[in-house]
Amino acid sequence: MPNEGRDETGWTEERIDRLGKLWQEGSSTAAIGKLLGISKNAVVGKVHRLKLKGRPSPISGGSRSPQPKQKAPPRIYTMEDLSSQTCRWPSGDPQHEDFQFCGRPPTPGKPYCAKHCDAGYATAKPKPKPAS
Ligand SMILES: [Zn+2]
Repeated sequence: MPNEGRDETGWTEERIDRLGKLWQEGSSTAAIGKLLGISKNAVVGKVHRLKLKGRPSPISGGSRSPQPKQKAPPRIYTMEDLSSQTCRWPSGDPQHEDFQFCGRPPTPGKPYCAKHCDAGYATAKPKPKPAS
């Protein structure tokens, strides 16, 4: 009878040795798990804990490893960066380090970019008094 509730932490030196050998031979984690009577995940976890060297991928040659896309972090405009060439619209919480300014090219003659000019005037607009 196979022991379903097998304790996966029951690693003996012999089992660890066998795992290492199978791993180096290139057996799949599923195959190793089957041989040792543990789950594939347990094999992956143990391999990770033992810091076993990664094996060369079976798909080798010709395939270039994908280059990680380097995304430039968005520029953060602080008070010092503000000039007549930057929108001064504040963004975020002034108490927080994320606080920054818009920094887009402003509308000529205005301190804010077109978008923030609109936003600024929309909020600054006084409510029309109800005609009495
Ligand atoms: Zn702006």
